[in-house]
Amino acid sequence: MVLPYGRQDIQDGDVAAVLEVLKSDFLTQGPAVPIFEQAVSEFCGARHAVAVNSATSALHIALMALGVAAGDTVWTSPNTFVASSNAALYCGAEVDFVDIDLETYNMSISALKEKLEQSAALGVLPKVVIPVHLTGQPCDMQAIHELAQHYGFKVVEDASHAIGGRYLKNAIGNCDYSDITVFSFHPVKIVTTAEGGMALTNEPALAEQMALFRSHGITRDPSLMTRVPEGAWYYEQIALGYNYRMTDLHAALGISQMQRLQGYIDRRHEIADRYSRELSDLPLILPEQAEFAHSAYHLYVIRLDLDVIKPLTHAEVFQALRDRDILVNLHYIPVHTQPYYQNMGFKWGDFPNAEAYYKSAISIPMFPILSCEAQTKVISTLHEILAK
Ligand SMILES: *Cc1c(COP(=O)(O)O)cnc(C)c1O
Repeated sequence: MVLPYGRQDIQDGDVAAVLEVLKSDFLTQGPAVPIFEQAVSEFCGARHAVAVNSATSALHIALMALGVAAGDTVWTSPNTFVASSNAALYCGAEVDFVDIDLETYNMSISALKEKLEQSAALGVLPKVVIPVHLTGQPCDMQAIHELAQHYGFKVVEDASHAIGGRYLKNAIGNCDYSDITVFSFHPVKIVTTAEGGMALTNEPALAEQMALFRSHGITRDPSLMTRVPEGAWYYEQIALGYNYRMTDLHAALGISQMQRLQGYIDRRHEIADRYSRELSDLPLILPEQAEFAHSAYHLYVIRLDLDVIKPLTHAEVFQALRDRDILVNLHYIPVHTQPYYQNMGFKWGDFPNAEAYYKSAISIPMFPILSCEAQTKVISTLHEILAK
């Protein structure tokens, strides 16, 4: 039995929901999409939601709606999937990074403060900051919000890992401390639509802009048109958008999955608690949780105590797990070390905490349908590999 680090849970109800759409009149964006949008926005307590075909697309239209363009700079964490920063490049903007905190692996608030002070002195502040809720644990959003007010930047939460998690007891995605929050529905994430994403906001104008950019910049709403409609066929393109629409097939799967979201989070916490108990005597750094956080636990990341496990190396432990059919992974290779980013001038050494994390981190199996026996195998294999 091969154990992946993450896996979707598809039940009969999900299959039936998708089949029903397949036999209906609407295959592409139809009535299921707004129902899915409403299910997510109500769960999270945000006023508006715009469903799209991926979180990558959601990040792109979020930055477009905030007016990000050539000449602007966007900051994010180097410890993320490349999509978080690529979105800024799509807009023609520059990207820079803020190093992580080595306890939560999220963007460091003190590093952010310091970089803002330096940048303010140089007169080159970011237009948008994208905090990433790594592993499903929220960043300190109140602190980021205060800095946003003080320095005048916008905030987009990359909550691709974090639907179902809570910050200060409230659902991540309520946008209390940000302009827009983005979710991913990729199969390894918390709930899935196969491919899919969503952008949530409390600002009607931002929701309207994002809905426009999702579908070619075309509107059928007469109040947005520049001319009087010429007939029932009439629509206007008033901006340059994309085809980022979600289909009704994907939305139907999402609606069905949303009913199990709370159960998924509870099960992920059970798995995390057991790992934290049964791995605590190994030379590992286990994930710490901030007091304001109730993680969605998309990932359970262990870090090896490299000095203690010598001469065993990170790569050897990783490979030993893979050799025993435990398909661990590594989230993430620091974005600034990717060749494409190094061509832009970033280099190793720029963000030392993200690099130190990368050299010791391993994502071990974490998904709701992980059985007790399978988890026992992961735990005993780690004991075996790391036994002195
Ligand atoms: C998965 C992920 C994305 C991209 O999500 P897609 O839906 O695959 O486009 C962006 N940011 C982070 C942090 C992710 O984990």
